[in-house]
Amino acid sequence: MHVLAETAASKPSSNMSARELRGLFDLQTEIERKSATRRGLWIAVGAYLAYSLTDYLFIADVAQSTIIGRFIVGISALSILEFLLHRKARANTIDVVSAISVSTGYLVWLIIAQMTADRVVFSYYMVFGAIFMMSVNLFFRFRFNVALASSAANMGIFVGALCVFESMPLTHKLIMGAFCISCFVFTAYVNLELNRERYKVFLNALEASLQQAAADERGKALLHLSNTDSLTGLDNRRAIDQRLRDYWQRWLDDGASFVVLLIDVDYFKHYNDCYGHQQGDQCLVTISEHLQQTASSHGAVIGRYGGEEFIVIKSASSFDEARALAEAIRRGVVEMALPHQHRRDGTPIITVSVGVSYTRKEIKQVDKVVHEADRALYAAKAGGRNVVAVFDATDPKYNVDREDVAATLKIALDQKLVSLVYQPIRNMQTGMLDGAEALMRLKMLDGTAVGPDVFIPIAERTGAIVALGRWAIRTTCCDLLVTDLVRVASVNVSPIELKMPGFADYVAATLAEFEIDGGRLAFEITEGVELELDQDLVRCISDLRKLGVQVWLDDFGTGFAGLSWLRLIDFDIVKIDRSFLHDSHTDRGRRMLLDIINLLRNRGVRILVEGVETIEHQRLMLQYGIHHLQGYYIARPAPAGRLATDNVLPFQQARNSVG
Ligand code: C2E
Ligand code: CA
Ligand code: CA
Repeated sequence: MHVLAETAASKPSSNMSARELRGLFDLQTEIERKSATRRGLWIAVGAYLAYSLTDYLFIADVAQSTIIGRFIVGISALSILEFLLHRKARANTIDVVSAISVSTGYLVWLIIAQMTADRVVFSYYMVFGAIFMMSVNLFFRFRFNVALASSAANMGIFVGALCVFESMPLTHKLIMGAFCISCFVFTAYVNLELNRERYKVFLNALEASLQQAAADERGKALLHLSNTDSLTGLDNRRAIDQRLRDYWQRWLDDGASFVVLLIDVDYFKHYNDCYGHQQGDQCLVTISEHLQQTASSHGAVIGRYGGEEFIVIKSASSFDEARALAEAIRRGVVEMALPHQHRRDGTPIITVSVGVSYTRKEIKQVDKVVHEADRALYAAKAGGRNVVAVFDATDPKYNVDREDVAATLKIALDQKLVSLVYQPIRNMQTGMLDGAEALMRLKMLDGTAVGPDVFIPIAERTGAIVALGRWAIRTTCCDLLVTDLVRVASVNVSPIELKMPGFADYVAATLAEFEIDGGRLAFEITEGVELELDQDLVRCISDLRKLGVQVWLDDFGTGFAGLSWLRLIDFDIVKIDRSFLHDSHTDRGRRMLLDIINLLRNRGVRILVEGVETIEHQRLMLQYGIHHLQGYYIARPAPAGRLATDNVLPFQQARNSVG
């Protein structure tokens, strides 16, 4: 039935002709009919031979011959049958041969039996001939035409025998003839009905199996639909959750470790806003095709995890494999060079950030693996995007829960969980502390310290940065300026704070309250990833300048927007990011640093280099004529109380060694 459903399913029954349906029926019943006929003929031959007994009883004088005849016919019939079955003959052929065997059996018996001397007994005994006729109609499962032809032949033999029977009275002949014809008609009719019934059962079963096949097909389509993301055709979240559970089960059962990669398209909301949702969708489709290709070439599975976020899962025997996959994905997207002209960081193409996590013994739930990948992704975003970040359980920045930090930030000011430390800036020409930069610190309620790299982005996202920023300005004024500890104090500000209406007013009010000259306060704006030169920002900066407040550009060189910023805004100081100084041990790194210094000199801005960690760094800077330095070698950030006693020894050593 199964084969049939498949054959028929490819061709709906309503479209099939009667002939085709009949062909299908024959095909289906082929094996069944063969075995039914085989069984039937074996039983029939058995019965045929058993009737030897009645031969002995009624026609003893010819019994020996009839029995020999019976055995010859019976054994021949079975031999032919088995031979045909062995040769895999069609059911129709086997049916016809079996029908002929039955008629032959009857004919052979009749010819020998009618030689008996006891004519009266034979005239009764021959009525058994009807059994042969009935058997082909009722006993076997021949098709109607075969059964009809065979039973008609048997009837013909019977009637023919009656006709040639000389000593039988006519009435006897008529009665026997009528009986035989009636048997023929009745059993042929029953055979017709039986065959119809079988065909009807076949049609019903076919219909049912077609309906079943259609339902299965619909079910499969529905399942596919419910597991597929309609835009990209990738597995959707539901399907991926199931896959994650499967991977997790294998990890629990056999220790088969796996990695999870969360991939997020950088600045995608911005892309949507600028290019429209239709193009945004197209962009996601294009990226998803690339991701799918890369994932399957690495034997990984992929799905869309929501919005512009994709997830890749891979059994990983080595962690390097996972990193290679993440890198391949990131690099592949860069190589696609899909234009994105409106990114805040100035990169003109679409990129992705990737967070990677992996199964570890300490993890008790599969959700945790995804959660860790999410935290790594967040770190990748914070690390400037278009990067791969791998979750590292030993890295303190991963050991805090973002939700906890967000909650703590809300109560941080009231509970005095935030504080400021100040890192001096030294003027190498005068040897004096020129100023100090305020750096914020946060302690969780249990006392663990959380670094600003972690909590500042969270504060920016939750909006807590606004209140924290104002507190930092006020506290710095009190700690450093009111007390005249340093000449200039710088405070880091996030663009979110600057864009907030009233920021410059707040600064003005604070300066007025403490009677501080505006020029003693500086704001450090990071030329970081989020910086976008919009009107609110420019207006705020110009308002601050009107107050005489200094504006510094922080981490210069890490973003792409820095140069255009330099063109539009007159910064009082530009701080060259510490990574350039740290690369200065190579020729190439030194040339790069010098190029940047020259570029800034040509623009006439004052330069501060941060990240001075060694005496070599300091020497190099003095050699390059940089006078404003900051870094662990100069002085570590410290609370205001310890700033005054900060030693000047490193400066003196450096000057002696340079001089
Ligand atoms: P930043 O403005 O570049 O601050 C300098 C960071 O470099 C500080 O890290 C400081 O501790 C570290 N540092 C100083 N000297 C050296 C050195 O010689 N070598 C190395 N490797 N690092 C040095 P910190 O305090 O963790 O601050 C990280 C970032 O968090 C800051 O980078 C700044 O962008 C942000 N941040 C800190 N405080 C505030 C704040 O009050 N408001 C805002 N908006 N951002 C803040
Ligand atoms: Ca800074
Ligand atoms: Ca900096």
